[in-house]
Amino acid sequence: MALDDIYDLSNLKNHTEELLFRIMEEELEKISDEDVCKCEDCVLDMVCMSLNKLAPRYRVSLMGSIYSTAQDGEFEEEVRNAVLEAVEKISLNRAHD
Ligand SMILES: [Zn+2]
Repeated sequence: MALDDIYDLSNLKNHTEELLFRIMEEELEKISDEDVCKCEDCVLDMVCMSLNKLAPRYRVSLMGSIYSTAQDGEFEEEVRNAVLEAVEKISLNRAHD
């Protein structure tokens, strides 16, 4: 029997991913649509590239919701740097014309 048949694995949250989605949104909003392609292909490439550079931080959301992201200034900076690097690399090397 599969693990996810026995346990509710949907309570597992990757904090890195949640933080990264928020920061990616912030950074893309700052850039004009003319400077960077924001189509689904490009943005998913940016998300993949930056997530792969960072260590995942899994937690169980029921307990983990107590943690504040505010204590994470240094990690947030690391995530932001990975996001900015990915945005630059992907926009210079689009997967499409
Ligand atoms: Zn694109």
